[in-house]
Amino acid sequence: MLQSHLFTKTRKETPKDEVSKNALLLIQAGFVHKEMAGVYSYLPLGLRVFNKICNIIREEVEAIGGQEVFLTVLQDKAVWEKTGRWNDELVDNWFKTESKYGGQQYGLGSTHEEPLTALVKDYIQSYRDLPMAIYQIQTKFRDEKRPKSGIMRGREFVMKDLYSFSRTEEEHAIFYEKAKQAYINIFKRIGLGERTHFTFASGGTFSKYSHEFQTESESGEDTIYVDPKSGLAVNKEVLNDEVLKDLGLSRESLIEKKAVEVGNIFSLGTRFSEPFELVYSDEKGEKKPVIMGGYGIGPGRLMGVVVETLGDEKGIVWPSSIAPFHVHLLRLGDKKEVIEASEKTLALLQNAGVEVLYDDRNVSAGEKFADSDLMGIPVRFVVSDRMVALGKIEVKSRKTGEVTSIDNSSLSMEYLNQLRGL
Ligand code: ATP
Ligand code: MG
Repeated sequence: MLQSHLFTKTRKETPKDEVSKNALLLIQAGFVHKEMAGVYSYLPLGLRVFNKICNIIREEVEAIGGQEVFLTVLQDKAVWEKTGRWNDELVDNWFKTESKYGGQQYGLGSTHEEPLTALVKDYIQSYRDLPMAIYQIQTKFRDEKRPKSGIMRGREFVMKDLYSFSRTEEEHAIFYEKAKQAYINIFKRIGLGERTHFTFASGGTFSKYSHEFQTESESGEDTIYVDPKSGLAVNKEVLNDEVLKDLGLSRESLIEKKAVEVGNIFSLGTRFSEPFELVYSDEKGEKKPVIMGGYGIGPGRLMGVVVETLGDEKGIVWPSSIAPFHVHLLRLGDKKEVIEASEKTLALLQNAGVEVLYDDRNVSAGEKFADSDLMGIPVRFVVSDRMVALGKIEVKSRKTGEVTSIDNSSLSMEYLNQLRGL
C-alpha cells in the first residue's frame, strides 16, 4: 500500500481529550477515530490489526470445534425475561431501545447467553446432537460507567463469545480444558503470552471458580496475585485463606500486579439450560439438561493491551503476527535511482507475499522516521542515496532498534518468510 494514498494522517500532537496510552497512540498514528467517550471507529491501519487478531482467535476456536454464527444485536425482551436479566437492577449496563411503530422494546446485546440458548433449543434434541460449540465475533453494547481506558473499555465493542453445550459435567470439563489451551495459544500468538496469567476468579452457582486471563499492565483496573513459580494467579476479589489452601499457594510467595482482563472462561452448568428447558434425551430416552460453558475475549481490548504493554516512548510496537504490515519501506529523497530501487524492492517483497506500507511521500527523512516509529511496523527498510550507491538496503527492527543492511538484489526465501512471520 502506498502511504501517499492512505487517507489517514499521523497527528503531530496527542489528542487533548484522552488519558489512556492506547487511545493516545492509536489516534495519533491514525489507527482509530474517537466518535465519543468509549466509542471508537477503526480506520484502515487499525482495521488490519483488528482483523488479524480476529483471525488468530478464529483459527484457534475452529481448531477446538467452534462453529461460527452471527446473532443479532437487537434482542428480544421476552427471551431475557426468562432468566430475569431484563431487569436493570440485575444487569446495570443495558442499552435498550424501542420501535417507534408499536413501541416494541429491544435490548442491544451486551452478551448472548439468553438468545443463543433459545436458538439452539430448535436444534438440540438427542444425545447425538451433542457436544457442540458455537461462537461469534460480534458487536456488544454496554453502558460502562467509566469509559476512560480507550479501546480497552468501550460502550460499543466487539467480543468473541463462544458457548459450549455438553451432555455431562465430565464432557464439559474436557471442552473447558481445550478452551483454556486455545486461549493460551491465542495470547501467545498475539505476543502477550509471557505477561498473561491464568487467573482464578469468582465462580457462580455451578462452579467454585471462573477463570480469567489477566495481562500484567500498569493500565489495568484489576489486581492479581501471581505465583512466580507456576505463573498462576488469583484475582484479588477472591483471595482468601480457603482459596490459597485450595490452590496450594502460600501468601508470602505471591506478587501483587495490576492487570487487564483479556479473556474469561466460565462453567455455566444448567444456569441457562434450565430456564429455557434446553434438554436432550439420552441413550435410554431420558430427558437431561444440557451443560453449558461461556468463553469471551475482546479483540479490541487485546489490541489496546498490546499498545499499552509493548509500546515505547516513540510509539507503538506491533508483534509481526498482528502488525498492519510486515515491512515499512521508506524512500528517502526523490532521485531517479532511489525511486527505482524502492519500487524494485516493493515489487520483490509483494511478490513474496510480504505486506508492505511504502512511504512514497515527499516529506523529510526526519518526518518519515518519526511516523514510522509511531506506527510501529516491526521491520523498517530504508532506501536512500547512500544505500543505493552501496547496492544495499538499511534494515531496522522497531522493537530492538538494531540496524543491519542487506543486499538489495538477494533477499532469500528464508529471509522473506521470516519477514512474514512464518
Ligand atoms: P470487565 O470486568 O473488564 O468489565 P467483564 O467481566 O465485563 O470485563 P466479560 O463479560 O467476561 O468481561 O467479557 C469477555 C471479554 O470481553 C473480556 O475478557 C474483555 O476482553 C472483553 N470486554 C469486556 N468488556 C469490554 C469493553 N467494555 N470493551 C472492550 N472489551 C471488553
Ligand atoms: Mg464489564
